[in-house]
Amino acid sequence: MKLYNLKDHNEQVGFAQAVKQGLGKQQGLFFPLELPEFESTDIDEMLEMDFVTRSSKILSAFISDEIAPHQLHERLKTAFTFPAPVVNVTDDIAALELFHGPTLAFKDFGGRFMAQMLAWASGADEKITILTATSGDTGAAVAHAFYGMDNVRVVILYPQGKISPLQEKLFCTLGGNIQTIAIDGDFDVCQSLVKQAFDDEVLKKAIGLNSANSINISRLLAQICYYFEAVAQLPQEKRNQLVISVPSGNFGDLTAGLLAKSLGLPVKRFIAATNANDTVPRFLTGGEWQPNVTVATLSNAMDVSQPNNWPRVEEIFRRKTWRLTELGFGAVDDDTTKSSMRELADLGYFSEPHAAIAYRLLRDQLQDGEFGLFLGTAHPAKFKESVEAILERTLPLPDALAERAELPLLSHKMAADFAPLREFLLHK
Ligand SMILES: *Cc1c(COP(=O)(O)O)cnc(C)c1O
Repeated sequence: MKLYNLKDHNEQVGFAQAVKQGLGKQQGLFFPLELPEFESTDIDEMLEMDFVTRSSKILSAFISDEIAPHQLHERLKTAFTFPAPVVNVTDDIAALELFHGPTLAFKDFGGRFMAQMLAWASGADEKITILTATSGDTGAAVAHAFYGMDNVRVVILYPQGKISPLQEKLFCTLGGNIQTIAIDGDFDVCQSLVKQAFDDEVLKKAIGLNSANSINISRLLAQICYYFEAVAQLPQEKRNQLVISVPSGNFGDLTAGLLAKSLGLPVKRFIAATNANDTVPRFLTGGEWQPNVTVATLSNAMDVSQPNNWPRVEEIFRRKTWRLTELGFGAVDDDTTKSSMRELADLGYFSEPHAAIAYRLLRDQLQDGEFGLFLGTAHPAKFKESVEAILERTLPLPDALAERAELPLLSHKMAADFAPLREFLLHK
């Protein structure tokens, strides 16, 4: 698969290169030159397959020129080790639960597949150091995705005392090829240390520095697969009237859904659901792109006012000659998020703020005869404090997380200074 840079269509790279490089010139996103399409008979056949076999077939349509199908199948088998079940909430609404992976959020799918593809693209004797800063969740997904990989070392910086104890336990107790450093400073300080490292050409070369960037094309490809997995679980009569509501921050998840549709998956309509950070809903209403200052909400993983995957969304609509007016959308504030969580609990379904936003817009916009799916992007226990307060009940931790919470922290401590970090990266 060739991909082009959305900011400079003349820059074209293969898939392996795009995985290693992340972004193109001028920070441009890569986008597939060909958008493959399956016949509807192929789709019907694929919906009968198991998750990994089907995923291998889907992704082969994009990248079989670079990676052999059996090799891709093996990589997917390593990455996709947990299910994505559809759980009914009402007669015409269900949740697609994407939080059964090691860090309890859908980011495990993309993170784990990206790790596999980076290892594949890099060759066995090439040493890679992944350096990243985290304010909590990304670090956990990256750490678990690369844990145990031979030629990859992961170093994660985080602000000491500024992430939740549970978040810290999730990625600072692994050991092995995962090193974590508690920096005496805030998240911005951690990010600037990472940036300094990437600006240091000598260091970069010596340790094979790479970032596990969230806009990596391999993540999006992985996320296409669970949209097919969702439809495969629906009875035939619900497949043709399907509306999917996606809780959105950077709009990667929605991009993947649109790619699934462009491959031929029967989805009638998508709903782009945001919190008060509503740049996209306002744009779709009035036609002006005017990001406001980002505000903090209950659904903090969606607190993004300049969604970096939006250019890819627009490109899909342009390439497929679909109309943006067909995209459903809406923004939900914190009060309505809370009442929607309570409404779901009354229906017997315990959820968390991100999914509740998608549910709310779905139930408001679903028409007679349609069937609605909303994405459950994180496990409610991941937002234990707020969920317990809103629903006035206690949530048990999933076993894996409860066990991890008992393990000792293995983090190093460091001053907010580049010299000791450089020393650590080179010699530890
Ligand atoms: C990252 C995240 C989102 C937003 O996904 P995007 O692909 O950035 O739109 C929604 N919910 C949760 C729980 C997340 O972690």
